[in-house]
Amino acid sequence: MRAVIHVDMDAFYASVEQLDHPDLRGRPVMVGGRSGRGVVAAASYEARQYGVRSAMPAARACKLCPHGVFLPARFDRYRAVSGAVFSVFHRYAEAVEGLSLDEAYLDVSADGLDPRGLLALGRRIKLEVAEQTGLTASVGMAENKMLAKIASDYDKPDGLILISRDRVRSFLDPLPVRRLPGIGQRGAQRLNDAGILTVGQLRTTAPDLLYALFGTQAIELMDHARGIDERPVRRGRLRRSISQENTLASDVHALDELKPLIERQAADVAASLRQRALFARTVILKLRSSGFSTITRSESLPGYTRSARRIADTAWGLLRNWSDWRSGFSIRLVGVGVSGLSHSPDPTSLLDEEQV
Ligand SMILES: [Mg+2]
Repeated sequence: MRAVIHVDMDAFYASVEQLDHPDLRGRPVMVGGRSGRGVVAAASYEARQYGVRSAMPAARACKLCPHGVFLPARFDRYRAVSGAVFSVFHRYAEAVEGLSLDEAYLDVSADGLDPRGLLALGRRIKLEVAEQTGLTASVGMAENKMLAKIASDYDKPDGLILISRDRVRSFLDPLPVRRLPGIGQRGAQRLNDAGILTVGQLRTTAPDLLYALFGTQAIELMDHARGIDERPVRRGRLRRSISQENTLASDVHALDELKPLIERQAADVAASLRQRALFARTVILKLRSSGFSTITRSESLPGYTRSARRIADTAWGLLRNWSDWRSGFSIRLVGVGVSGLSHSPDPTSLLDEEQV
């Protein structure tokens, strides 16, 4: 039998800030960009009590939680903590599939564990992560990736949930359909309109109806409603970034002239993401001046995307906000890229409805 553990750190960026700044512990902390179109990238559980969520515009979050502390993201620090977390994972699992800085699937099938052994292993990993980093994680254990992820999400923060084979049906059936992977806001609405609210109702829906609603995706939905997910844990490191850059035929002086190129590059990057079944969380803009100095600017989104529109808009925003731009400056290379890649981000963290 397969055994998969999904580990997801709790409010990761915000928790790292509370760890590093003891005076912030127990207080509402938000991490993200505060300027203009800035959004919340992570909110501590204290901030969530005020209704603050990831992806929320910063202005709205500050209104909901005026006494909260709003901090800029420190990705170098988060990456360092992430390294410590992942080295714990690699000590216990042969195959580790990282989904983001703070989240991974661990395949521990080789250990031949019974449910009790699997639960003990999950608890041990959780404890060791806490010892190594001072941070809490939520841990889910099951026979496949989908169930393990649903389990880790079920009792956040600081959760530890095992869905053993004999509990799959009783666990899944009462959950809202939105908890299943691949069902976004629009898909859930379509199911709800057909009177299908829970996974149990989905499981017992006539296949014909699901085909009519979802086409060939119906097969996957029916499998998921039964707790079936054959995807292997993909060993190794996540591809770190995808980008597209072009050297310009002649130097460009006016910002607006770059817009069509940025749009085209964003479309190429979005197509590569789609091809590789990936989503991205960070958009990167790279510029090289005619004097050959290179700058990169990046913006972390509050969730995942592979929308060409959103990537282009974000890259364009980075260019517009680039404070060093001055007339007379000339650009000879432009690049648009993405990083923070994930194969299977939580559906609730998708910023854009998937276009088929
Ligand atoms: Mg997390």
